[in-house]
Amino acid sequence: MIGAGPAGIGTALALGAVEGLTFGVIEKGRIGQTFLDWPEAQTFLTPSFTGNGFGATDLNAIHFETSPAFSLGTDYLSGRQYAKYLTAVTMHFRVPTMFGAEVQAVQRNADEFEVHSTRGIVRARTVVWAGGEFGHPLSPGIPGAARCVHSRSAAAWVRRDGDVVVIGGYESGIDLACHHVEQGATVTVVDGEHPWDAHQGSDPSFRLAPRSRMRLKRALETGRLTLVAERAVSVEAGDAGFAVRLGGGGTFSTPTVPIAATGFGPGLGPVAQLFATRPDGWPELDTDDQSTLTPGLFLSGPAIRHGGQKFCFVYKFRQRFAHVARLIGEQAGKDTGALQAWRKAGMLTEDLSCCGVECAC
Ligand SMILES: Cc1cc2nc3c(=O)[nH]c(=O)nc-3n(C[C@H](O)[C@H](O)[C@H](O)COP(=O)(O)OP(=O)(O)OC[C@H]3O[C@@H](n4cnc5c(N)ncnc54)[C@H](O)[C@@H]3O)c2cc1C
Repeated sequence: MIGAGPAGIGTALALGAVEGLTFGVIEKGRIGQTFLDWPEAQTFLTPSFTGNGFGATDLNAIHFETSPAFSLGTDYLSGRQYAKYLTAVTMHFRVPTMFGAEVQAVQRNADEFEVHSTRGIVRARTVVWAGGEFGHPLSPGIPGAARCVHSRSAAAWVRRDGDVVVIGGYESGIDLACHHVEQGATVTVVDGEHPWDAHQGSDPSFRLAPRSRMRLKRALETGRLTLVAERAVSVEAGDAGFAVRLGGGGTFSTPTVPIAATGFGPGLGPVAQLFATRPDGWPELDTDDQSTLTPGLFLSGPAIRHGGQKFCFVYKFRQRFAHVARLIGEQAGKDTGALQAWRKAGMLTEDLSCCGVECAC
């Protein structure tokens, strides 16, 4: 596994249930490095709650015998708290992890991979890329975009006086807008797709989470939040700050650097050339989350896409840890029977057609 976030550690936990496999995690920083790098004010939008005993494993847990709500006593976790949870799980289950080892290249030879890291070369029959998306922030892709600060950086969350402009109105844009309204600023969010209006379908990957809706309602009630269903077309610098020009001809001026809440890309880093790319830019996978170009190379984490389905939350992509582990175990001729416990706990999905079920009410 490359990457010691929930995807890499979670896949390693499932592999640990297969007798006789040799496996380990390579991490360029520390366990949960992405969460340690999260801006301090950022919290999870998926709540944690210990429903494990009744078959409803904590939404943010990566193993069914664990629950961040139980160990940390918190429902909406901060990045630091989640990193603490991941570290505790890694220690408890003794997941072999190599720290401070950045993977710079991965080479496929006849029957094995050579993984070149800053701490030496590792050889493996199978590689799971779990490097996450946080290292791949997407720019708004408009003239002057470099003048913006991305939502992933601490600077986007620092208290601001006067008008604030946020480009992008999905989860992170609304999160930031509410944050700045709560701090007393006047905020404008611009987004031609106006995702804050999406009400169809019950999949949280395509509509704002309930907590975001509640915060949005409160922020709108202050009269200091404006949502504009128009595309930003350029960002210009002037004497008094910045001007964000809109497709409809209008302009919003702000004394502070505009914030780009324009999401993240797949972040495949050193394995990018080993995956084919779908027309929408995400990696092409077979039905087992394996590269269609490079057999033996799997993807774990939020960049998984199958058809129109997105696996961008922990509770979604964790469904695949045990599936990939079972496949790897079977290919190596090992007994994978212990993975039935993952299935029993509702943490193993093979048939992805069931994921599209809509709620009746
Ligand atoms: C702002 C934000 C908020 C989110 N909120 C939620 C939420 O509320 N609920 C939810 O379920 N999901 C949420 N997600 C989605 C998802 O759960 C996170 O993106 C999560 O971090 C993905 O886990 P991961 O293990 O794939 O990647 P990460 O947690 O990013 O872990 C990847 C690890 O790989 C390491 N790494 C990267 N490249 C290399 C390399 N070349 N060599 C060695 N190591 C490397 C990194 O240092 C990092 O530790 C959020 C995502 C973002 C960006």
